[in-house]
Amino acid sequence: MSDTIFSKIVRREIPADIVFENDTVLAFRDLNPQAPVHVLFIPKEPIATLNDVVPEQAELAGQLMIAAADYAKQEGFAEDGYRVVMNCNQHGGQSVYHIHLHLLGGRQMAWPPG
Ligand code: 5GP
Repeated sequence: MSDTIFSKIVRREIPADIVFENDTVLAFRDLNPQAPVHVLFIPKEPIATLNDVVPEQAELAGQLMIAAADYAKQEGFAEDGYRVVMNCNQHGGQSVYHIHLHLLGGRQMAWPPG
């Protein structure tokens, strides 16, 4: 797949406000936050869309969710609640083709989404 801005963030070629990192996952604040807390959790390995995740990557996909929940707990808003979202392709509103889990918190979320 072609390189995206997120791979450049993984390689530290462009700056980002990184809040979590381990061997496989990186998390950084969204440039255009939609909530008081808006953090993107990405696999360091580039995968274009959720459609491209294969069973061998199930643990990696799960790690994104666990990392997001751990961050919410650490930051003290897990009990109040939060939303995690992964947009896929055009109808999902995906704009960066390197999968990422949005963690949104710090305010009441509306449902249904727009
Ligand atoms: P998507 O629309 O693909 O689900 O989400 C992409 C997200 O990446 C958007 O919320 C957008 O604000 C964010 N974003 C795009 N470019 C950058 C960047 O260079 N740095 C950071 N931190 N976030 C970005």
